[in-house]
Amino acid sequence: MRCPYCGNPRTKVIDSRGVDEGAAIRRRRRCESCGQRFTTFERREKVQVTIIKRDGRAVPYDRMKIASGMFKACNKLDVPAEVIEKALDEIEEAIMRRGEKELPVSVVGELVMDKLRQIDEVAYVRFASVYKRFGNVSEFGKELDVLKPDEEDASGPGSGPGDGLAGKGSPGAPG
Ligand SMILES: [Zn+2]
Repeated sequence: MRCPYCGNPRTKVIDSRGVDEGAAIRRRRRCESCGQRFTTFERREKVQVTIIKRDGRAVPYDRMKIASGMFKACNKLDVPAEVIEKALDEIEEAIMRRGEKELPVSVVGELVMDKLRQIDEVAYVRFASVYKRFGNVSEFGKELDVLKPDEEDASGPGSGPGDGLAGKGSPGAPG
């Protein structure tokens, strides 16, 4: 960062702090040559991409919507907010790297699920099950089955221990 007073490229950061609820970092710098001080702001690049929903509607990308989905998926799971924010930043970087003006919602959904899978398996399953409502994710349905806890035992109530000769009534409908 070049000094705006003398053009010297060597400046020292003497103070930095988050502003705008963490969306930007304000840095106080001092020129190592002339000693003048100045302030710089470092701001996260805003993702400007249009999301094409499954029904064909185009909506502007909204970080808050993705964040809310991720926070809901992580509800009561002891996942620190910073971890989710960092994952969001990485998702946005991945979106920006693609350099597309429009993206199908499935691309974003998969990026989110990829991150959640790394963060917490339960969060991942929750998100995937909600995401499923948008359609075309039968693959995730399969994964949900695999991850479901075994509630049903292998031995069902179908065949009892009786020898079948009790002869009490018919096996038909009782009423
Ligand atoms: Zn200077």
